[in-house]
Amino acid sequence: MKTTINKLCLLLLVTTLLFINCQAQDFKKYFSDSTLRIDYTLTGNADGQAVALDAMSRMPGWYGKRVHMAEVPVRGAAEVTMQLASTGEVIYRQAFSTLFQEWLDLPDAQRAPKSFECVQLLPMPRDSVVVRLTLFNPRHEATATIVHGVNPKDYTLRRIGEKAPSYVVLNEPTDPNHAINIAFVAEGYTQKEMDDYLEDCRKGTEGLFSYEPFKSLRNRFRIIAVCTPSQDSGPSIPSEGIWHETTLGSSFDTFGMDRYLTTLRMKRMHDLLAGAPYEHIIVMVNTDKYGGGGIYNSMNLLMTKHRLFIEVLVHEFGHSFAGLADEYAYEGEEMNDFPRDIEPWAPNITTLADFGSKWKDMLPEQLALEIEHTDDDNLDTATLGLYEGAGCCLKGVYRPCPNCMMRTLKVPIFCPVCRKAIARVINHYMP
Ligand SMILES: [Zn+2]
Repeated sequence: MKTTINKLCLLLLVTTLLFINCQAQDFKKYFSDSTLRIDYTLTGNADGQAVALDAMSRMPGWYGKRVHMAEVPVRGAAEVTMQLASTGEVIYRQAFSTLFQEWLDLPDAQRAPKSFECVQLLPMPRDSVVVRLTLFNPRHEATATIVHGVNPKDYTLRRIGEKAPSYVVLNEPTDPNHAINIAFVAEGYTQKEMDDYLEDCRKGTEGLFSYEPFKSLRNRFRIIAVCTPSQDSGPSIPSEGIWHETTLGSSFDTFGMDRYLTTLRMKRMHDLLAGAPYEHIIVMVNTDKYGGGGIYNSMNLLMTKHRLFIEVLVHEFGHSFAGLADEYAYEGEEMNDFPRDIEPWAPNITTLADFGSKWKDMLPEQLALEIEHTDDDNLDTATLGLYEGAGCCLKGVYRPCPNCMMRTLKVPIFCPVCRKAIARVINHYMP
């Protein structure tokens, strides 16, 4: 019996090794170890949107996933795919969201069209490919698409990042080939304030890894701090008449919301990082004014001098890394993002249109459709169920627990559904 078990174990081990090997070979079969950066312009208003190609360039090294290339762990509001020109086989897929699509929900988008920068990093294909970028509305319908070819031998692909910017490594992964690469970028820190910035990055790193599931999976991450000094100290605050010359031109009052701190300079941000090992971006803004924003697979940007610095960093990283939705809803600040007959793509909220695709399997059967109502003072994070009020909607959108990091910064823990969703994204990078 023992021999049989050993043989079985050996067989499983060999199968696993073959599988790992096959996955690794797949990457090498289709891609070279460099990055294809494509800059797009997203334009339009609530009446209609379009995507246009701006520029393409080549950077040394590839710092995204090397397995599960044609799958995504979480859908987003947009998607980019790469297909072999010869066979049509999809060899890469990535989901993301954009500030442009957030803007489309606002009254301002009923007026004149605007344009937004969108930068995508893709693994450099070995052969000619067709790249398709699609934006979706909350009903998951495509609203704008661009389809274009890329020939990796095209000599007009601009070479960038041949010389890496100056950076400091803050966390090393055990396996660099399957690491998740995060880069901090300094915004509104002058050259004299670079040591202070690095100290904030160290605090941010330790803060992130004090939360589960990041804590137990720390060895999967490479974290670097790229030194990008600004001329002026602190970001612009238009509502206070403060305009500063900073490296990313970040600003409060985005879309007229005072605490919405963002940057629109996506191309500039990626120019600063070119040549460094990065995929996910956390922009550290040197201000004590409360604010920040996180957009799925796009960027995370936040203030570093407020007492809630770490909590905001971790909350926004929930958005930017794992596509988690806000689990709060406040009277007077409701959004109408979620058609109730459609299941939203974020893993931690549901309209019950397709609850089976969410956390129904984590609930005891008798609890699966019981709806609870709670108020903000209930800090019990343990009771998994269905709680009304989430995604900035007071009615008809539900969250998994009374409380969670994605609902209030008073609770220093992600709910079990969010923890599972984050771990799923982390494991997506592993064979
Ligand atoms: Zn949660």
